[in-house]
Amino acid sequence: MYPDPVLRNKTARVEKIDSSLDRLIDDMVATMHAAPGVGLAANQVGIPLQLAVIDISSRENEGQRHPLLVIINPELLSLEGAVAEEEGCLSIPDYAEKVKRAAKVKVRAQDRTGKPFEIEAEGLLAKALQHEIDHLNGLLFVDRLSPLKKNIFKRRYKKFAVEKE
Ligand SMILES: [Zn+2]
Repeated sequence: MYPDPVLRNKTARVEKIDSSLDRLIDDMVATMHAAPGVGLAANQVGIPLQLAVIDISSRENEGQRHPLLVIINPELLSLEGAVAEEEGCLSIPDYAEKVKRAAKVKVRAQDRTGKPFEIEAEGLLAKALQHEIDHLNGLLFVDRLSPLKKNIFKRRYKKFAVEKE
């Protein structure tokens, strides 16, 4: 949870894809679905590794459902266009704001068996990929807000944190 420093550090490359990583992936998928959210990065559950899971199927209509995506050691190969859409984050509850992102992305990653793959995405999937890869680089969506909105966020969130205590 924000402002935990684990969210601010760059994560390490996954070198070993074994049964313990497999269990971590299953746990992350369960956590993401229970939240419910459309994506979760390993450092959000305190594990500083380059690993994230994405499942946008609950937000899609039946004809065009994307399958669950596991990305290990992901790299953004290309970014195209620009869109500004509302975003939220499981690590920053009760806060959403419009964030400027590329409209289309191309990502290279390894799947849960270690096999390399490339994926091109637009719409919600492009947004989720950028959001999760940001997490793995220690970035949060609030870092992408204008200085004015960032200030409003910090003040509002401080107040929210105090009220919750
Ligand atoms: Zn997030």
